[in-house]
Amino acid sequence: AFANVARAPEDPILGVTVAYNKDPSPVKLNLGVGAYRTEEGKPLVLNVVRKAEQLLVNDRSRVKEYLPIVGLADFNKLSAKLILGADSPAIHGNLVTTVQCLSGTGSLRVGAEFLARHYRERTIYIPNPTWGNHTKVFTLAGLTVKTYRYYDPVTRGLNIQGLLEDLESAPTGAIVLLHACAHNPTGVDPTLQQWEQIRQMIRSKSLLPFFDSAYQGFASGSLDGDAQSVRMFVGDGGECFIAQSYAKNMGLYGERVGALSIVCRTADVASRVNSQLKLVIRPMYSNPPIHGASIVATILKDRNLYHEWTLELKAMADRIITMRKHLFDALGARGTPGDWSHIIKQIGMFTFTGLNRKQVTFMTKEYHIYMTSDGRISMAGLSSRTVPHLADAIHAAVTT
Ligand code: PMP
Repeated sequence: AFANVARAPEDPILGVTVAYNKDPSPVKLNLGVGAYRTEEGKPLVLNVVRKAEQLLVNDRSRVKEYLPIVGLADFNKLSAKLILGADSPAIHGNLVTTVQCLSGTGSLRVGAEFLARHYRERTIYIPNPTWGNHTKVFTLAGLTVKTYRYYDPVTRGLNIQGLLEDLESAPTGAIVLLHACAHNPTGVDPTLQQWEQIRQMIRSKSLLPFFDSAYQGFASGSLDGDAQSVRMFVGDGGECFIAQSYAKNMGLYGERVGALSIVCRTADVASRVNSQLKLVIRPMYSNPPIHGASIVATILKDRNLYHEWTLELKAMADRIITMRKHLFDALGARGTPGDWSHIIKQIGMFTFTGLNRKQVTFMTKEYHIYMTSDGRISMAGLSSRTVPHLADAIHAAVTT
């Protein structure tokens, strides 16, 4: 029955790891996937996560019953508070409905499925470029994906003019996907002043903002600082979708823990929206897993654990910033042609190097360095030990 099934291509991001795993070279380096690594190149489980897990294990009253369709109530409340702020009028007015979903991806998908069923406008605008999975998630949910200009390869910065023009010519009511902070793959974020311009354009055209928040705290090291864009949009009283992921900022990648929040105009609407979200979730996966959400809730509701988390988060963000400096200096020391200041200017986990597909292929072949073909490298996968090897490879790629 399946003899004619064609072989599918590897995922463009996760496929990088597949290729890396096959390479026997001792100097190989995986800068493809956006997962944090220590100076020793090891995955990191936060200390505060270990502590929370210990507390959970020791609590014999905890059972493995199903969670409700919308997940753990505490987790949902605390997640909304984390992104919107403890003093958010939207939360106090019960305008926000939050459901626990399968990390950031699952939150985006549930939000998109809800929009496809209940929203009049089916077009979603996503930035060009964006995280590769966005197009597929939204298309498969039944939305029509279009792009708005975002990155300017000449300035290696934000094309704010193009962005505003494209939003202006979008149909009234269209959905707009925005990266809350640490834009993936470019590392280029709007300034607060530019965010305000974007907000005014979105509200004046009655567009619907859908925030993807996969790196809160990971960009600046400040959780509140990285939530400012979202809070501007919620502060104006308008509607807003937010997909949150705890993969990066708590290092809970494989636990698949995230949340979808929908900010509505009234508490009654929010409660009806919540009832419909259950109808989206129930036939998809019935209800979400309990362990990751329990870890997050344990940390978020305890003052000391929360504080400890912010310190560990800041340490991860700071190590990445240090790697940016090291790489920038290493290219300077080699006299590598070109302006590499974007390495230290870009924000978050990635550097959008500007290396082209051919140069990337060269670096993989000759230096065993693995990255996505758009020239994006994960700074979180670098260490002081591996920076010189990467700098040698970049130097060779641009000079040969
Ligand atoms: N959005 C963006 C922009 C991302 O970079 C990622 C992770 N690479 C995600 C969403 C989703 O990640 P996850 O499903 O692991 O939370």
